Amino acid sequence: MDAKYWRAGDNQCVRCVLCPHACLIFNGGHGKCLIRKNIGGVLQATGYGKISSMAVDPIEKKPLYHFHPGSNILSIGFNGCNMSCLFCQNWQISTQETPTQDTSPMELLHTARKAFSIGIAYTYNEPLTNFEFVMDCAKEFRESGLKNVIVSNGMINPEPLKEIIPYLDAANIDLKGFTEEYYKEHGGLLNTVKHTIETLFRAGVHIELTNLLIPEKNGNEQDFERMCRFIADMSPDIPLHISGYFPQYKYDFPPTPNNTLTDFAKKAKNYLNHIYIGNRAGCGFTNTLCPECGQVLIERSGFKTRCLTEKNTCPNCSQGFYAVF
Ligand code: SF4
Repeated sequence: MDAKYWRAGDNQCVRCVLCPHACLIFNGGHGKCLIRKNIGGVLQATGYGKISSMAVDPIEKKPLYHFHPGSNILSIGFNGCNMSCLFCQNWQISTQETPTQDTSPMELLHTARKAFSIGIAYTYNEPLTNFEFVMDCAKEFRESGLKNVIVSNGMINPEPLKEIIPYLDAANIDLKGFTEEYYKEHGGLLNTVKHTIETLFRAGVHIELTNLLIPEKNGNEQDFERMCRFIADMSPDIPLHISGYFPQYKYDFPPTPNNTLTDFAKKAKNYLNHIYIGNRAGCGFTNTLCPECGQVLIERSGFKTRCLTEKNTCPNCSQGFYAVF
């Protein structure tokens, strides 16, 4: 399948402009994300329809805590990524081409319906590098009344982002840290990610953010508070998931201590209404509380969810809260 968002150059070279890396790719080569290849001077989306992983997950696992809580969603992943995080939790599929299974948007739609899924989540690796396939699926799912969810690092250029937004219902974007240096270390650009988050929010896509906290790397309290202020400036209602790190891929720093997670969660509470601690049991910060009166609105234990309201208003004080039911 021919890729979108590229320009032809001299000597059969192409420049991909899907994401800010703007890879210059020689004939026979591939971009940083592995799955966009120059074949005979034409950029090909070689990951089109090729999935590396598929499961029906609780929506809370994405994590999305305020979007159809308690529902299940068909989740798929591909190969490749346009960042190079040294702590990648899914490096097996993001850093190399693993065996894949061919599928189509119609087949996935059929699978989603059979599984009573609310829609589809493009997740596990960086899905937007497989832009053409995600677009085609998203159109089918939207037309059939099912939901489209992306779990993404937010590294995409404004033009393709604008093209896909009308088909998106919800997104969880990784906000890995809050300095350009930290992003550079992992092959990303903070400014691009901030732009993606702001654009999605302003366009009315339901968003939640995830910050993987690694005390030795991104545990600077001032940077963390700057990040919270950035989120609060958009809306203090945007949920932030602070995720506990475990040694993975090229990092062998010790796991984030539980008390560090709770300390940072308490700090975030000074700016934001909905803070959660993920990837770690026993730290609290699991339930959704009314920002006005503190009433429990959604109770969680692991991935078990109990909604104490069926709409996005508090049954105790009638205050609205940021959620889609
Ligand atoms: S999408 Fe892939 S090939 Fe295109 S610019 Fe980004 S990393 Fe490079």
